[in-house]
Amino acid sequence: MKPQTPEHDAPADAAERLACAPVICYPPETLPDPGLERLRAARQGWVLEQTVTVPPREAACARVPAGWFFRIVSTEGPQVGDLNLWNAGDLGERFYSGKTRALHGTHLSGGDRLWSSFPHLRPMATITEDTLDWYGFDRFGGAVHDVIGTRCDPYTGRLLSGTDYHHCCHSNLTRALAAETGMRPAEAEPLVHDVLNVFMCTGFSRDTGQYFMKASPVRPGDFLEFFAEIDLLLGLSACPGGDCGAEHSSDTARCYPLLIEIYRPKAAPRGWTPPEPSRYDGSHGL
Ligand SMILES: [Zn+2]
Repeated sequence: MKPQTPEHDAPADAAERLACAPVICYPPETLPDPGLERLRAARQGWVLEQTVTVPPREAACARVPAGWFFRIVSTEGPQVGDLNLWNAGDLGERFYSGKTRALHGTHLSGGDRLWSSFPHLRPMATITEDTLDWYGFDRFGGAVHDVIGTRCDPYTGRLLSGTDYHHCCHSNLTRALAAETGMRPAEAEPLVHDVLNVFMCTGFSRDTGQYFMKASPVRPGDFLEFFAEIDLLLGLSACPGGDCGAEHSSDTARCYPLLIEIYRPKAAPRGWTPPEPSRYDGSHGL
């Protein structure tokens, strides 16, 4: 955190330096157009092919072929979900929350995309509908569906409280990925990565820049909908924090299940082809 009382005096031109206008690093108009309307049109006549229930304080995996859709749905009560995405054919290609944050901002909504890790850097999924888009940013600077948090995990819990808790999202995702793939938990754990915090309401305090959470505005019937740009294996944890209005990493909060719905469209969206991996030549100047 920045000190309340700096140790160093401001220079003579401090006001001038402070007044420099910010520049948006990645203006959205410079990104490839996700073709949101064409993706949405492909929902006409789609078939609900599969549902997967994620129990409270647990995680589950699901597979979604390229060109299909999936929804994460709130069913019984306010509940936050921690989402991991992998290329189903190459688990080394996974969701890159940091680059997604740089490209689309701290919190995602319709038309934003979930980008994959280097050296691939391509859209893994495009968000096609967000029933919580009305929330915007609240007066605290909070918003839903962030890519600023990481995931609750037993290591930070141990660091801060000195106790072990085994149903953090990191552990839930590790167990679910191991069960889905047949890997040992020790093999699956390094593949678990920073998440999209579905339905979670978070921000940075305006005075100190500290990460905060507050009770999620999600209610039963709300959903976040995605179009799978490549063949996906997804992992979703129903966070032990429940609506994350008070605490996580314990059995204290009231928790609810989450539902994954997987939809098969009648035909691929018009003009859509699966995105290719980055064409950077990989030589790094050597
Ligand atoms: Zn969690």
